[in-house]
Amino acid sequence: MNAKDDMNKTRRLGVLAALQEELGDLVEAMREEGAMRTVTLGRREYHTGTVHGVPCVVTLARIGKVAAAASASALIHVFGVDNIVFTGVAGGVGRGVRVGDIVVADSLLQHDLDASPLFPRYEVPLLDRARFSADEVLADRLAAACERFVADEGAALTKRFALDGVRVHRGMIISGDRFVSSAVEVAALAEALPDALAVEMEGAAIAQVCYEHDVPCAVVRTISDTADDHAHMSFASFLTDIAGTYSSGILRRFLAAYAVA
Ligand code: SAH
Repeated sequence: MNAKDDMNKTRRLGVLAALQEELGDLVEAMREEGAMRTVTLGRREYHTGTVHGVPCVVTLARIGKVAAAASASALIHVFGVDNIVFTGVAGGVGRGVRVGDIVVADSLLQHDLDASPLFPRYEVPLLDRARFSADEVLADRLAAACERFVADEGAALTKRFALDGVRVHRGMIISGDRFVSSAVEVAALAEALPDALAVEMEGAAIAQVCYEHDVPCAVVRTISDTADDHAHMSFASFLTDIAGTYSSGILRRFLAAYAVA
């Protein structure tokens, strides 16, 4: 094995999303860049190859914490990835987090986990913690890619999709097996977890698996809705029209930097 292969081997990246649109043009880019191998396992497809110079394994995790945990586990144990990045959409719950904004996780928590009174609310039994940190280096690089994406394309996106500007936030993302779609529920989440910026259904599960196996991970979410009574419609149109543009633009910049880091 030459030095370049060795270096690449140590930096194999797993990329996950829950829904097709959230992967943007990633699989297409992999196919165009050279040999792509697709493995079907556990009713999912894992695509291995190179994207923007980075050896990657790309898969659709599907929706929810179990699906995400199973996919992350396979990426680690079957495909031997060294880092994991999740990309997708989420509901904005933090003050000032609006549709079209981007949130990069510093930490993640399962908002539907409750083994009280045996364990404190939200704590993962026997792991002694509720919050799982994203890897700082990966999260910093992801946030830098988001900032570049916004600097390059923010104005055009704002105009094209009639957004209220595009901002990049860093903070806590919360996950649970529920599509949050009522103002009452958002208010309850915001009161219980005031530092939560976004709610989704996979990130904290991946962060837990990665913590258990010492695999660095990071999560980026574009805000598709504000988890209120209009969430379903906002989510659906954002997913169809806009989500892919964000994922493609952010991942392209992230991977280009990752390839030379
Ligand atoms: N396809 C179904 C359900 C989508 S679930 C439908 O059309 O209704 C929503 C997906 O986007 C999940 O993968 C989740 O991670 C993310 N998401 C976006 N907005 C969300 C919200 N308000 N609450 C929970 N998850 C959200």
